[in-house]
Amino acid sequence: MTNRNGRSKSPRADDRVAATGTADGQDSGDEFADSVIDRRTYLSLSAATGAALALPGSATADVRGEPITDELAFVVNHTPDEYEAATVVEFANRRALEAFADDYVTEPDPELSRAPKAVTRNSPAPAAHARLTADEVADVCERDGVERLDFSPGANPWWKLDSPYEDGVFPPVESARNYVAYEELAAGLDHLESARPDRVRVQRIGESPGWTNRFTGEESDPRPVYVAEVTANVRDEESVAEKERIVYSLSIHGDERAGAESGCRLLEDLATGRADDFEHLLDDIVLVFLFPNPDGWVSRTPQTAIPWVEAHDTNFQRGNASVFDGQPIDTNRQYPTIGWTNPAFRPAEPDGAPEEFEALVPDALAIVDHLRDYDDVALFCDYHGMYTADHAVFNLETNASLDHGETNELDELNVRIGEAMQSHWGGIEAIEDDIATAIEEMYDWVDDGDEAVPDGDSYDGLFDWGTTYDSISYQVTGGFADWAGQPEAFGGLGAVAVTPEVVLSNHQVAAQKEWKPYSSRHYVTAYRISMRTCAELIARETSATVATGGQNVAYVTTDELTRTSAALPHTDDHFDPDTAADTDSGPDGGRGTDHATEVRRNHRRVEAGSAAQSTVAADAVDSSHSLFVHFDGVRNATTGTIRVKDPTGTVVREIDLAAKADPTDLTARRRDVEEVFVRRPRAGRWEIDVDADADIRVGTTVIDADGDVPDPEEVLGYEQRAYSVTPLQFFDDLEPFLEDGEIEGMSILDVAIGRLLWDDATACRYDKLVVSHDVGLDHPLYLRAIERFVELGGDLVLTDAGVNLLGELDVGAAASIAPDDITDADMVFATLEDRDLEHPLLAGIRPRQQEIWKGSQLGYTTGIDQPSTTVERDAFEAAGGSVAGTLPRWLIDDGEPVPAGYGVGAGILPAGDAEITVLGSVLPPARQTELHPFGLADYALSEMGHTLLCNALDFEQRRYVDGDLVRTVGERR
Ligand SMILES: [Zn+2]
Repeated sequence: MTNRNGRSKSPRADDRVAATGTADGQDSGDEFADSVIDRRTYLSLSAATGAALALPGSATADVRGEPITDELAFVVNHTPDEYEAATVVEFANRRALEAFADDYVTEPDPELSRAPKAVTRNSPAPAAHARLTADEVADVCERDGVERLDFSPGANPWWKLDSPYEDGVFPPVESARNYVAYEELAAGLDHLESARPDRVRVQRIGESPGWTNRFTGEESDPRPVYVAEVTANVRDEESVAEKERIVYSLSIHGDERAGAESGCRLLEDLATGRADDFEHLLDDIVLVFLFPNPDGWVSRTPQTAIPWVEAHDTNFQRGNASVFDGQPIDTNRQYPTIGWTNPAFRPAEPDGAPEEFEALVPDALAIVDHLRDYDDVALFCDYHGMYTADHAVFNLETNASLDHGETNELDELNVRIGEAMQSHWGGIEAIEDDIATAIEEMYDWVDDGDEAVPDGDSYDGLFDWGTTYDSISYQVTGGFADWAGQPEAFGGLGAVAVTPEVVLSNHQVAAQKEWKPYSSRHYVTAYRISMRTCAELIARETSATVATGGQNVAYVTTDELTRTSAALPHTDDHFDPDTAADTDSGPDGGRGTDHATEVRRNHRRVEAGSAAQSTVAADAVDSSHSLFVHFDGVRNATTGTIRVKDPTGTVVREIDLAAKADPTDLTARRRDVEEVFVRRPRAGRWEIDVDADADIRVGTTVIDADGDVPDPEEVLGYEQRAYSVTPLQFFDDLEPFLEDGEIEGMSILDVAIGRLLWDDATACRYDKLVVSHDVGLDHPLYLRAIERFVELGGDLVLTDAGVNLLGELDVGAAASIAPDDITDADMVFATLEDRDLEHPLLAGIRPRQQEIWKGSQLGYTTGIDQPSTTVERDAFEAAGGSVAGTLPRWLIDDGEPVPAGYGVGAGILPAGDAEITVLGSVLPPARQTELHPFGLADYALSEMGHTLLCNALDFEQRRYVDGDLVRTVGERR
């Protein structure tokens, strides 16, 4: 395990420098004026980290001379002495080049640990590319025959010279000089488009907010957001319109470079006809390469001023250049997802965006606008990078709801990616030495990198999938893929959407991201395999069906599960919910006016390394609806604790930063904890204690609302979007996929008057009855009709609040289960625990897949608010039931949630010739009490939840590719 003592030599030293900034993350101008350390100390600290650190603002050296461009002079004169500037050198003749090479060119390292110090070429003119310190630049510029030195970051050493692409545009990782630079991408795209206009179409679809450019002096230097479309005859609009699209979103988090590194190289191969494995696909599909975060990318150059980073601001940044409420903006939280919306974010909905959003999230607004013009996005892949994990790559399922066809397409895609990675590498052992070495370099307190090599079982440690929570243990609103996955009628793209994550493409510590070819080559390969497999699958004809064995299924309808925007206090009461699907028209006319909503925001930066912990306070009042505490910088901390305390001093959330940061603990569910949500906070002063070894920015948002629901117009500036949703829509959506049999809704009254049976009342008209609610529990005829149905051999499937029927029914094993054995409770996430993976209800479900449904798009938060109805395990088993898994239960005691053990969340009870299946939480109604400006979803089953429900119905899922049955999921009992 980790030797925590070893952390004294960790790169934490530079955080002490960061701690000298001003409270609000503003650039203080003279960086060392108020500093506790002097510049000499700073430089020695920088050197101790082994990283090249840049100083902001004031000049650090004075290197200049005729051959040096102004830009290179700026770079070397505004970075620490150790900083190695990427420099391209042009020589008057070969002799001058050779003299340079004698001093600077070394043998390439066969281990590919770093790109060589310098490389050279002789034609069309003698030139070199080298990483040079200020002293070395001074040395080179005084040599005979040196004509020009220019700053030239990026992968291709020659991209700024004439004949830049003799050896290709974006070089292979093994010969790349560094990460591909943003300006290099722009030049490369122009070149590829002009070389193959029939195949490549490049657009600048909008701009980033833009950093201050310290070299040009521009206060804001926005950069274009690039989209490159690749297909055969790309300018033939008619044929392009008929093709399905796949969107590759590349490095929306600027510090996770794997997506862009892989995407650039694939794009070049496609343009130049070298991507044999894709060539046959280009007649049928359009590949869309999107580079969504220019700011997070260009932040690496010393010309950009990063307002919240006082030291080493030559790093990639996660988000864009905007600051809202004292916090940097995370570009992957600002998309207009339906369901719960965290009020700390600025959702980029182009239809009606408040004016200030145009300055904060112009990139996301432009991207949403552009992608909505595409008619047919079949697949959307948002490529990210993670730290360490038990598998090399995860595919995170979108938070959006998936229908039966989409669920099967997603699963089929994942199976194929796993198989493709395995056929390429065999298993993790093929790359484990490189991973171990990279871990030791990135986490310098880890002595044995082998401890952090992925050790999972799925595809030999190479690949696994599940929901976001299943994979990385947190949940967000405003995620890009979560927006893309939601239906077009709800403002999304209606695509099957995934978020791939790959190990070692991020850095837990705020250390300089260094180009490591030996390690980067693997994530480039992994994502290339992913991109290819995705494109291959959508180019084929996929479909899915349900084999029911001829069964007919009835489900009990009720309006009590329906949620409409018309019921909200801040919408016009006369609004007609029938227009709910029309996302363009909100409820017009007057809004309710008596329900005032107020937002109070506060933020503070807590500096690292202070001996005493620091406290941030937020005051709640009686009408406070919710309290959000939002953290930024948590992922840079390696030790310390954060505690959120209510006015009585009770700790409602504690975050152990050391446990969270341990890279060798692959089983610990790693949380990038960024927020705490408290509904109806107790009135009084809430305190957040922060004791950390990195700067932590703490933002608090308190919403006060007179009614039960805050008005989004008051909180965010968006008018409430109209909706009318019900989880019973699931059954209507599944019906068209049935190969045989029927699914029919039936009212409580219809059940009560005997419609479950044939007219002579001696045989069942249906094979299964699903009850997902407890409406009608006091209706004796309804209960009696259900008992009769089961006595005659009909199977009963009780889900959600419908599980309460067990306490009332006097049939089969239900007879011995009392109302006291059943508990309605809440949980944080609907995750099935204590699973028996051999149980028939879990057929086809993978060990990682625990989350049954995804809360955010149904209006649920990360607080304890997801409902379940579960049965005491002892009573369930005593009645002869078999348990497939349990669900956690929390109960409210004196206003505080307390854990109350686990109850049976999935299981089967015997009932003569029939069965009674219990699923404690699958199709809950949407929750309207939180902010949800863009509406709500009907249901949000995960792939796992979908299979669980199909298994409960004794359905077999069948999957076809090009008309051939390729896979079945679940088995008929
Ligand atoms: Zn990310």
